[in-house]
Amino acid sequence: SEKSRKTEHSESRKLPIYQHKDKLIQAVKENTFLIVTGETGSGKTTQLPQYLFKAGLCRNGRIGVTQPRRVAAITVAQRVSHEMGVRLGEEVGYQVRFDDCSTKETMIKYMTDGCMLREILADRSLSQYSIVILDEAHERSLNTDVLFGLLKKTLSKRSHGRKTPFKVVVMSATLETEKLSSFYENCPVFTIPGRTYPVKEKFCNLIGPKDKDSSVYVKEVVKVTLDVHTNEAAGDILVFLTGQSEIEKACDLLFEKAEILDYRYDVHDQTVEGLLILPLYGSMPTDQQRQIFQPAPKGVRKCVVATNIAATSLTIDGISYIVDSGFVKQLNHNSNVGLDILEVVPISKSEAQQRAGRAGRTSAGKCFRIYSKDFCDTCMLEYTIPEIQRTSLTSVILTLKCLGIHDVIRFPYLDSPEERFILTALKQLYQYDAIDRRGDVTRLGRLMVEFPLPPNLTRALLKAAALGCEDVMLPVAAMLSVENIFIRPGKPEGQKEAEIRHKEIAACAGGSNDFIMLLSVFEKCRASDHPSAWCKEHWIHWRAVKSAFSVETQLREILLRLKQQNDFPHETFDCSRSELLRQCLCLGYFTNVARRSIGKSFCTMDGHGSSVLIHPSSCLFGEELHLDWIIFHDVLVTSRVYVRTVCPIRYEWVKDLLPKLHEIDVYELSSVARE
Ligand code: ADP
Ligand code: MG
Repeated sequence: SEKSRKTEHSESRKLPIYQHKDKLIQAVKENTFLIVTGETGSGKTTQLPQYLFKAGLCRNGRIGVTQPRRVAAITVAQRVSHEMGVRLGEEVGYQVRFDDCSTKETMIKYMTDGCMLREILADRSLSQYSIVILDEAHERSLNTDVLFGLLKKTLSKRSHGRKTPFKVVVMSATLETEKLSSFYENCPVFTIPGRTYPVKEKFCNLIGPKDKDSSVYVKEVVKVTLDVHTNEAAGDILVFLTGQSEIEKACDLLFEKAEILDYRYDVHDQTVEGLLILPLYGSMPTDQQRQIFQPAPKGVRKCVVATNIAATSLTIDGISYIVDSGFVKQLNHNSNVGLDILEVVPISKSEAQQRAGRAGRTSAGKCFRIYSKDFCDTCMLEYTIPEIQRTSLTSVILTLKCLGIHDVIRFPYLDSPEERFILTALKQLYQYDAIDRRGDVTRLGRLMVEFPLPPNLTRALLKAAALGCEDVMLPVAAMLSVENIFIRPGKPEGQKEAEIRHKEIAACAGGSNDFIMLLSVFEKCRASDHPSAWCKEHWIHWRAVKSAFSVETQLREILLRLKQQNDFPHETFDCSRSELLRQCLCLGYFTNVARRSIGKSFCTMDGHGSSVLIHPSSCLFGEELHLDWIIFHDVLVTSRVYVRTVCPIRYEWVKDLLPKLHEIDVYELSSVARE
């Protein structure tokens, strides 16, 4: 392994960034702000922190490198610790939500931008850091965008106070360097010239402007991928899809087809025997992710089926072919429904360009777009809209308020969100009792900000804690914080079987709602001697439940700490456990209340009055006619609007809360926001 480390280390000298090493170190030394751009794969993320570390730039504090995606933070930290020959978690470590692999000794710390925000909450002047690198700036994730402004403030504070210099480096693949530079006092931009090879682009015309259903594009992607495999010369394939379930479906289909066909093709005198199919998405286990970077055995073609994570955050070597679905899963604030919704939307043209470019890193490549030119022209925007302009700002605004930033409208945003989005966030915070009428953070708001959870879940959890029934709510919050608990197989046989098993769990849990079902799975696994076997039998992702165990422990620790530090409210109750859970949920989810209207459809009560249906994955699907009022955790929009993770409630529980939805005046809030 020592030998492989050495060769890999010499590999890193071949990266484009290596030739600019000394100049880069110099530039960081000379400037407070610096922007570094360069093609994806040029070595920014893995190399620059090492250069700065070795140049002794972090003698007075560590280097923090932020990433919008947790997987990127973890894999990159693994890679860099390996290159440096140190154990992960020592000199090189990472921290992502619910997973901290760093110590006091960690000098290069890769972390999500969300974790960096939390560090600022804990220590405004970031005294443990000498350099903060905001990586993947082009992604324009909500938290990175807020960090742009916050670090500007931190900096002015630090340069007046302590002697140790504090530096900010912003790294991005391309894009908007001028805007960033003028935002940071016209700081210099360091460009790493990249070498790229031409990529031939082809429209396969299988998707037109009207196709948006995932079952359509998954099939077409599979078809094109198999065509590439059978017709094209050796070289690995990278397929861009939208999310875990679509990726798993596509991989299943690829496996299935690969079984039927005999994979032994002689293409241009090169035998490509088989297809090594590897999924890649955010919540995948890390050991499985490592496989992605390893070269395929001789004569075998590697085919990575990935989310957007492979567009810029992670670079896989040896990719010659891209198959682009043209879609991405994106969190958007839907003003019709008044909620944030994870939607499948067409990518932007710049994103399409970025995806295609992945095939031209080491040699000329080809990009197969399953969609038509017409689709590209009519459905795709030029650029992706920054997250801050399209999602709920509730958490971020609470963070800013807790940092003492009262004027949240004139905060230095790189791109300002629409004022009404800020007002919506303030209104929600007011509804959760996190801020008062004057826009000041309440005691409850200060407790809420401590939890790395969405505000509604935190509100429910704090209510449960006040009632002394956190043992019921903690597991639910944990289960809602991990991905996909229930396995939903693609093949019809599996689907039936899974459905029966899930119904059994529901029946066991009293069959009353989806939250109690999550609690039931959690408790069943914890009580079982063979939880993995139990999960397998019941079509449950054991890995997800295992992470929920860890999340639950961490949430419990936060709660315990808050209880010790604060004078915690106590309330009394007398009702059953499941009723208690439902009442607590109402406190957090009264913004997501619906009442049954006609037939199986429900009408939301937040003033939008949208018509929604219960999603087939809910244990209440089919029970609609027996229901009246419900709350729901999230919304899924396909051709219809579905609510998922549903719980029936009694009107009395929300009766006093619902007026809060309309009580406060937007005008009052806007002046409060601007004070
Ligand atoms: P950039 O940040 O400029 O996009 P990176 O520093 O992420 O570039 O990647 C530089 C090189 O390191 C890439 O060519 C990639 O192949 C390699 N690399 C990065 N992470 C890993 C990993 N986990 N395993 C193997 N190679 C990796
Ligand atoms: Mg990078």
